[in-house]
Amino acid sequence: MNPVPPSTLVVGAGASGLAFALVYAQAGANVRIIDKRKHRSMTGKATGVAQGVWNQLHRFGITSSVLAAATPMRNFVFHDDEALIANVPVPEISGRAPAHLYPQWQLECDMEKALVAYGVEVEYGITLVEFHQSREHVQATLKHNDEPRTEQYETDWLIGADGAHSDTRRILNLPFPGRDYPGPWSVAEIATSLWPRQVQAQLFLHRDGVGLFLSQPSHGAVQGILNAKGAASELKKRFADAELRYEREFQVSLRRVSKPRLGRVWLIGDSAHVQSPVGGQGLNLAIWDGITLANALLNADLTVERRLASRARRTLLFTDFDYRMLATRNRAIRILRNFYWSFASRYPIVAKWFFRIISGAW
Ligand SMILES: Cc1cc2nc3c(=O)[nH]c(=O)nc-3n(C[C@H](O)[C@H](O)[C@H](O)COP(=O)(O)OP(=O)(O)OC[C@H]3O[C@@H](n4cnc5c(N)ncnc54)[C@H](O)[C@@H]3O)c2cc1C
Repeated sequence: MNPVPPSTLVVGAGASGLAFALVYAQAGANVRIIDKRKHRSMTGKATGVAQGVWNQLHRFGITSSVLAAATPMRNFVFHDDEALIANVPVPEISGRAPAHLYPQWQLECDMEKALVAYGVEVEYGITLVEFHQSREHVQATLKHNDEPRTEQYETDWLIGADGAHSDTRRILNLPFPGRDYPGPWSVAEIATSLWPRQVQAQLFLHRDGVGLFLSQPSHGAVQGILNAKGAASELKKRFADAELRYEREFQVSLRRVSKPRLGRVWLIGDSAHVQSPVGGQGLNLAIWDGITLANALLNADLTVERRLASRARRTLLFTDFDYRMLATRNRAIRILRNFYWSFASRYPIVAKWFFRIISGAW
């Protein structure tokens, strides 16, 4: 390890930025983490937290304290045109469930609490507006949102963990090649007592290519994601006692930067790659990026650049395949897909490869 670990500014306190900061803070290295928000967002995003995340967060004392409150993925029900196709018992991966249901915002709160225990606090209300880099340093301009002043801050590394609309990526002028999926999509959450007890996730596909994914982020709550408008009305149709908590629309794209580093500036998480929520890999990849990069920088290992790019490429291939299977209108592919899952419901071993990828274990 370096005798004097380099100083680092992390821009963005979502999952990727928090994961990076946790590794640095635990090592006693110099890290500052800022976020332009006033406080943490409680908006519903991921509900499935992969085994890989739990494996990694174990070293910060998070896994053991919160995993008991999360629901293991044991059963997954799949319909097409409202007919039941398969009720798949989810096979274990390395003796454990491949994923647990747990709300992303709650996991981020747990990560932030662990960070505070190492003496590092997220500085909210500060926006990265500009930076310039030399061979030795990055000079960042930070805007304190409630004050007229800006601050100049010098750092060895700048980590852009600032999400899909990354300012860091824009300032670097890095292209973000890829494509947009047809949209908009919508996500909604309801309170209900009618969720079936033995099931953790349900997928309702349709011949017109529209799919509804339902999961239970916490007891008494159901989240629905639809690759079209109207997630809330779909939920209300299916749960007679539904009380809507929120609904919003969003756009989904498949894009990634060709390299996650330019000089002394790195991009991790959604700032480096975005993908469809089908396959549930965004959060897992964001945390993997943060932990992998922080470990490497502490060891002055810059070959990590290749590993970041290669894992992103593989993950995006998988989630795009999942999306295509979900949204296909091709009759022959639908028949094959439905046959495969119906077979997997009787012989779960045939779907083990799928759940191994879902587990994101590393
Ligand atoms: C509806 C939905 C469902 C999903 N479901 C799943 C799922 O089941 N499983 C899964 O693995 N993934 C899922 N995902 C994807 C997952 O939520 C994201 O991939 C993950 O949140 C990315 O984390 P991040 O830290 O890279 O970015 P973000 O969470 O977007 O965090 C970026 C942070 O940077 C801050 N910021 C931005 N610009 C600046 C600036 N200039 N200065 C300072 N701060 C700044 C923002 O305020 C924000 O807090 C889902 C996503 C959506 C939308």
